Amino acid sequence: MRPWPARAHLRVIPRLENVETLSALTDARVASTFLGAAYCFGSLAGLVVLAVAAPPGADRPGLAAVNGAALACGLLLIALRGRVTRTGLSAAFVAGAALVGLGLVASENRAGVYELFFVWIALEAAFFLRGRETVVPLAAIAISAGVAFAVESPPGAGALWAATVGTAVLAGLVVGWFKGCVQNLIDRLADAARKDPLTELWNRRGFQDVLEAELSRARRTDRPLSLLVVDLDHFKLVNDRLGHPGGDAVLKSFGAQMRRLTRGVDVPARLGGEEFAVLLPEAEKHDAFLVAERLRRAAKAAFADGPAPLTVSVGVACHPDDGDGADDLLRAGDQALYAAKQLGRDRSVIYNADVVAGIGQEAARQDVSQLSSLLLLAETIDVRYSGTAKHSQAVGRYARAIAAELELPQPAVERLALAGVLHDVGKIGVSDAVLQKPGPLDDAETDEARSHPELGARILAGANLGDLAEWVFAHHERVDGSGYPLGLNGEQIPLEARILAVADAFEAMTSERPYSPALPRDEAAAELRRCAGTQFDPEVVEALLRAVRSERAAATLA
Ligand code: GH3
Ligand code: MG
Ligand code: MG
Repeated sequence: MRPWPARAHLRVIPRLENVETLSALTDARVASTFLGAAYCFGSLAGLVVLAVAAPPGADRPGLAAVNGAALACGLLLIALRGRVTRTGLSAAFVAGAALVGLGLVASENRAGVYELFFVWIALEAAFFLRGRETVVPLAAIAISAGVAFAVESPPGAGALWAATVGTAVLAGLVVGWFKGCVQNLIDRLADAARKDPLTELWNRRGFQDVLEAELSRARRTDRPLSLLVVDLDHFKLVNDRLGHPGGDAVLKSFGAQMRRLTRGVDVPARLGGEEFAVLLPEAEKHDAFLVAERLRRAAKAAFADGPAPLTVSVGVACHPDDGDGADDLLRAGDQALYAAKQLGRDRSVIYNADVVAGIGQEAARQDVSQLSSLLLLAETIDVRYSGTAKHSQAVGRYARAIAAELELPQPAVERLALAGVLHDVGKIGVSDAVLQKPGPLDDAETDEARSHPELGARILAGANLGDLAEWVFAHHERVDGSGYPLGLNGEQIPLEARILAVADAFEAMTSERPYSPALPRDEAAAELRRCAGTQFDPEVVEALLRAVRSERAAATLA
């Protein structure tokens, strides 16, 4: 298994982007409207008091000017509400505190309403500003009130100042505390709408949000993102045996197991019923397959001795290969899961458009459990020799493209795609030492390596895939008769085997192997042409090269 990538920079997303927060209620636009309204109301109240109950000795023109200025500020804040920045908002609170101070001075501290306005400013600042931003208006209140009481110096000015500022600060603290409680409640409700209460994993809605966020991160950083879709097999039987509460306990324990067996950055979820999913950031398809297998084996082992044995099926899909959007990726995972179910359950299947389609047809044709074992074997061989990972899948795609280019009937095209995927199953009988040897092979090793077409054919024939067996048997024959195992030549070699030979050679040349670096496509094409007529069938070579060049190939071979 490849080592997991460095993950220090990865963290489970702490808050989801589209979860409601109080900030929608307290943004600068709403705040400036409210503050503007408070300014207007306060100034009008001041003007009414001035008209009907002006205290003796009050500075009437001064009070009119202060209230007029406050009205103008209020109207301005309302008119500019869409454009006020957070700094502008803080400045508006400070200006309010200054105007209230001036009002106090002009009323000779006898109007009795101006101290109240300080409390308004503190309340609104605590509601609309964030944490530390509130300090500025509260300090402005303290200074403005201090200056006003110092200028007026009424009896007990110090006590009056302390009572006024203390009330304002206390009002601000209460509002700030209340706001924190409401935010907390909103967070908890938002969380509850996105969590499954039984397993405490994300539910489908929460998982969708995380999936979208992780997909956009994967696109931004150009990193892979894998998805496992997991379904408990025959869960109805588990419920029948244990009753619904017993079934729930199994679901809960499976959820806990998923959490235990994945990394901190992975995101397990319960999509609904007995269907689960795991998102694996930065994991390639084959790493994800290994995690799926670990989960599957662990679940089987954990419930093996209980009253209701349990198995699970897993579909594996990876961004960007199998889908760019969340829906595409989930669909690919679902289809791979469906294939796992079709193949007899209790297995993991990696999404592959060709194989998933092929399984549907094969399921109708014959005993699918044998085919499933073979596909698993092909996958295992790919995983085991990570130097040739994806090799058989790619050979399947090339074989299908050549067959389509040669205009073989559609069922034959699909059959060749399957043969391509399975062409190397015989390598299971060849030792690692031989398969991965960097230098030339000695005679005994050559014999061992050359046994794989026959062994593959025996395996396929044993699985009722007689036609594929014949093609795989001959996929190392050469048209000039110098190939193996029999040294057939020309048309003695089945066309399908000649197709597999070209698909296999082209894939091998263009991908990195333990013993040679990858060739560019045009050099591989030149090499195929050089060997056409001796090693390869020239018509098949030309068909592959046309397929690689043509647009159809661009879509199917990319
Ligand atoms: P398959 O292998 O094809 O998935 O078979 P299955 O029986 O698991 O599939 P099916 O989707 O037909 O049935 C799912 C069952 O899961 C039906 C329902 O009784 C059970 N189930 C769904 N949600 C819950 C739940 O919350 N608690 C319990 N105990 N059972 C549930
Ligand atoms: Mg099920
Ligand atoms: Mg189900």
